[in-house]
Amino acid sequence: MTPPTHGADSSAPENVPLVDYLVLEPTPHLVANRCRNCGARFFDRRNACAKCFATEFDSADIATEGTVRTFSIVMVAAPGIDVPFVPAVVDCDGTSVRANLVNIEPTSDRIKPGLKVRLTTFPIGADTSGAVGVGFGFEPIGA
Ligand SMILES: [Zn+2]
Repeated sequence: MTPPTHGADSSAPENVPLVDYLVLEPTPHLVANRCRNCGARFFDRRNACAKCFATEFDSADIATEGTVRTFSIVMVAAPGIDVPFVPAVVDCDGTSVRANLVNIEPTSDRIKPGLKVRLTTFPIGADTSGAVGVGFGFEPIGA
């Protein structure tokens, strides 16, 4: 992933979401493109709806709490990638969100389909301009 770019004159550190569908203010949440015809939601930019081929979209806030639908526990990855990590698909009030599960013991004893989780954000690191990249994941509710 390439670092985000910034205006040359910004001196104060700023938080920069790693993906453009992560919105940090006023509280962190995800925003999808919603088909104005059929209501299908997509996180990537599309020229036409994958379901109905309509071409008009507006934006929709995605629920910040959801349910784990599927997950895997990755124990081995390329050098430089911390393992284990837990990529999952989380059902947020009907919208499927792909993200890692965080703040949870990465074992199948702890993680089950149907686990209730909520969106959380965390700093990834600062770039040379001092801007702090912000990533997101889902953590268990009440754990
Ligand atoms: Zn559609």
